[in-house]
Amino acid sequence: MQNSGVASLFSSALYNQTHHALFNGSHALSAMSKKLFSLMLALGLCLLAAPARAFDYVSACLFIDSAGLHPMPDGSLTDVDAEADQQHLMQLTRDARARIEATFGAPEARPIVVFFKGRDGFGKYHLNPYGNTQFIGSRACVMIGPEGQNVDVVAHELMHAELNHRAGTLKRALQIPTWFDEGLAMQVDYRPRYRISAEAMKDADGIRECRSYDAFFSHDPKTVVEHYTAARYVVGQWLEKVGQRSVYDRLQRMSQGESFHEAMEE
Ligand SMILES: [Zn+2]
Repeated sequence: MQNSGVASLFSSALYNQTHHALFNGSHALSAMSKKLFSLMLALGLCLLAAPARAFDYVSACLFIDSAGLHPMPDGSLTDVDAEADQQHLMQLTRDARARIEATFGAPEARPIVVFFKGRDGFGKYHLNPYGNTQFIGSRACVMIGPEGQNVDVVAHELMHAELNHRAGTLKRALQIPTWFDEGLAMQVDYRPRYRISAEAMKDADGIRECRSYDAFFSHDPKTVVEHYTAARYVVGQWLEKVGQRSVYDRLQRMSQGESFHEAMEE
């Protein structure tokens, strides 16, 4: 479903959060030129027809500054009041960034990070209780609910933001296959449910067919877990050949004009 055109570009951004509604993921649009900004204006039309939930993600990210959240000293936002709890959340972000740094190098992306305590979101926004990352224009929002307040989910979401920051929003939206985006995020997400079995390794390469958001996520929950598992394994195998420390450079080469295939060549 990721063909060119304004509607599909935006719908992929919207779908990105639907997946995190079920699991704990990320995504959408970022670093934007005037050209892309004008795209966003056109996309406003699509918003009218978007599901209420998708609209909540986009509007929560766009209007986060007026959502009545508390700013924390590290710049993130939360509806959590107790200082001890806020300290815990800031520590999670530090630990997640440290994990990314130990794996790929120091992260540079600085998305707006939001932690909320309600299972249904915060304020008037209905969000999933895990995690979600939105990219709208130059704005990136990582929104983490109560079920996602662990290093695995936070690092996973921040890694989506890092890929978007390095490769560029348009490149990510139009060229980076979903299996790669998810597989890379899974390298810093150690949850055991996504460990691959010896049996599944044989067919794991088939995940490369899941280039679009729909191909990866529009399935029953068990199949989607299998997709995450295969993506983690396949990207992990590729990293063993090319080296984790080459990833940022490869993504940056995409932002400078290389195609996904050129930049990721072994
Ligand atoms: Zn994800």
